Amino acid sequence: MKNTSIVFLRDGLSFFFDLLYPPVCLSCGVQLHSTSDIFCPICNESLSRCNPYSIVPVASHLTRIISIFEHGGAMAHAINRMKYGNELFAGVRLADLFSKEMSEELISSNLVSRSTTVIPVPLHINRLRKRGFNQSAVLAKPLAVSLSLDYRPGLLDRIIDTKHQTGLTGTERSRNVKNAFAASAVVPEDILLVDDVFTTGATSSECARVLLKNGAKNVSVATLDRA
Ligand SMILES: [Zn+2]
Repeated sequence: MKNTSIVFLRDGLSFFFDLLYPPVCLSCGVQLHSTSDIFCPICNESLSRCNPYSIVPVASHLTRIISIFEHGGAMAHAINRMKYGNELFAGVRLADLFSKEMSEELISSNLVSRSTTVIPVPLHINRLRKRGFNQSAVLAKPLAVSLSLDYRPGLLDRIIDTKHQTGLTGTERSRNVKNAFAASAVVPEDILLVDDVFTTGATSSECARVLLKNGAKNVSVATLDRA
């Protein structure tokens, strides 16, 4: 009887929440019919999946790069809303999709073990205050929970408030993030970094360099999107 009441209450709250905030497409804003979708059918068509999801980088401190979507279309628009529109709600909905699809890929490809620790690429405190949240952490935590892995967001700090990487060349990006990170404790051996977008890899490779220097043996990066 108690369980029935809870289900009734939850469904009732969900019904009123949907009435107040009807689900809309994260890219074009049209109303959606199902709360489990994040894009409308037309925007869904613009999504392109990485093939393959997992690649071994050249000249990087990273072991692997695992990404779900190619950059562009509705996904780029949704990520921009999260990052530059400071829309946490967009981040939470993208995190649901990321956690589901990335978990499946990591398990089916044997890219994580029970000893893997998940770490989001950190934001500098100044940018964190401005945005209100770290988009990499919004994506990383549900993934760690879904895979029952250790989640250590405080293990890596961003100690230099670097300028935005947008518009910089690969070499400039590497120079921009050099020595921008520091480990706050001894790092476990097997690390899965999480970031929203993989572009040149300058940021995640610099994170990996610091993690490897402080105890890690293997650092891969999982991202929602690969440019
Ligand atoms: Zn749409």
